[in-house]
Amino acid sequence: MAKRGVIIVAGGSGSRMQSSLPKQFMILGGEPVVARTINTFYEALPGAEIVVVLPEEHIPLWRNLTARFEVAPHRCVCGGKERFDSVKSGLRALSEEVEYIAIHDGVRALVSKRLIVGTMLEVEKCDAVIPVVDAVDSYRVVEGEESRVISRASLRIVQTPQVFRSEILRRAYEQPFDARFTDDATVVESLGVKINLFKGDRSNIKLTTPEDMIYAEAMLRQK
Ligand code: C5P
Repeated sequence: MAKRGVIIVAGGSGSRMQSSLPKQFMILGGEPVVARTINTFYEALPGAEIVVVLPEEHIPLWRNLTARFEVAPHRCVCGGKERFDSVKSGLRALSEEVEYIAIHDGVRALVSKRLIVGTMLEVEKCDAVIPVVDAVDSYRVVEGEESRVISRASLRIVQTPQVFRSEILRRAYEQPFDARFTDDATVVESLGVKINLFKGDRSNIKLTTPEDMIYAEAMLRQK
């Protein structure tokens, strides 16, 4: 079976949660957010190498949390200024034998095993896979004082895990940082690689605001 690697990026310090504790360490359903994310990947992909990228100043806090909560085996490395730098740091920590790599936002702790396994199987056919969901709101583009509606029929909301053949991902991350790199797909696509879309889950939200935590708690209670 192909050797798989997982990079869970949780190297951001986050400012929208109105809390001094970054969201990736908040307790959700009785365990730290990033611990839940790690454990779900471990269950979905037994034998995968898991690397977690954290802000340097929070590594002692993470050590403390891993002593108190059940967290699956993983390696822990320091993040960088941009998400791009954090992914690079994660890539350096994964062994060269890994053939496919999933990159996941640590704060998407409601990710399903279906989505992890599904994207991992799909990438063996096509090199680059990202989960997307349909846009259900209406969207407007703002230009100065004016705004105009754009058709949501052609829009998709992009999620993680984003999964790639490892040699392509490593090559893509040798490029210098560009402000247009908002996720891993944009980095890989700039090499001319086709990005394939996979059906994501609406519940796979990026925990960003205090309301998101309430929603996530409710989702977990319902499970
Ligand atoms: O900033 P944004 O919400 O897009 O972050 C998405 C994910 O990338 C989060 O899990 C965050 O912790 C991570 N990140 C990172 N290093 C940074 C910035 C963000 O690992 N420098």
